[in-house]
Formats: sequence, C-alpha cells, structure tokens
Amino acid sequence: MSDLRDLYQQLVLDHGRHPRNKRVIHECNDGAECRHTEGYNPLCGDKLTLYAKARDGVIEDLSFEGEGCAIFTASTSMLTEVLKGRKVEEIRGILDEFIEMLTSGEKTPDPEGLGKLAVFGGVKDFPTRVKCATLPWRALEVILESVDGKGQPDQPIRTE
Ligand code: ZN
Repeated sequence: MSDLRDLYQQLVLDHGRHPRNKRVIHECNDGAECRHTEGYNPLCGDKLTLYAKARDGVIEDLSFEGEGCAIFTASTSMLTEVLKGRKVEEIRGILDEFIEMLTSGEKTPDPEGLGKLAVFGGVKDFPTRVKCATLPWRALEVILESVDGKGQPDQPIRTE
C-alpha cells in the first residue's frame, strides 16, 4: 500500500496546486447539452460549480470552478481529467465504483477499473474528509441524470 500512498500524495499535491480544467463552460449554441450544478460541503467549506457538455451520449467537456481543500481540488481536477471525452454509460460505471470505494466498509475496490482514481481509496480512513473527495462525484451524478434532453438540474448539491 505504500506505493499507492506515495502516488496519492504526489497526485493530490500536483492537482491541488495545478488543477486541470478549472474554467467555465458557457452556454452551448452548437446543439450540445450544457449543464452545470453547484455543490457545497459544509463540513469543510468546499464549494463547487461543475460544468459538463454532452452530445450523443458522450461527455465532450468537463470543467469546474470553486474553492476548497487540497483533497477536494485534487478529486475534482482528476475527475475532469479522467472522464472528459468518455461515454455517459462508462462514466456511470466509474462513478458508482468511486462512491462505493469511499463509502462501503467492506468491498475492496478494483484499482484496475478506476485507474489512478484508486489513490483516493485511502481517504476512507479519514471519515471527515470523505465528503471532500466525493462532492464533485455527487454533483456529476446529478448532471448525468439531467442529460438526454431533461434540462438543467435545479437542485444544488449539499453533502450531509
Ligand atoms: Zn474539503
């Protein structure tokens, strides 16, 4: 596990200091579906707006704005980097696995399926930080439910 822990520290530091895809996706005027949703983690103060651009069952673009702790920033940055350009169905599978990894007490995650996102598995040992890591994923869950012509989601996410 120590290799995974080293990798975790490297990735959280790197993405925490240099977040990827930190920008706004403005309204679409090219036939794609653009969505955004807000999230807030009152335990830590992490604040998020997650943006997605979907077309034909593919998330073409993913980005975010917000401020929070290093775990939140790294988790959000890596989410956008790893999932951008993938099919909605594929993203749903990764999302379920990521949430399962951080919230289930028993099941061993499949690091192969999650790729480098598996480094967040260690956060489970720090229960007060789990919501920092899962906040962008909960927001993504709402966004995925809103694509396919269902319109802009209206409920902000608040992790409790
Ligand atoms: Zn946090």
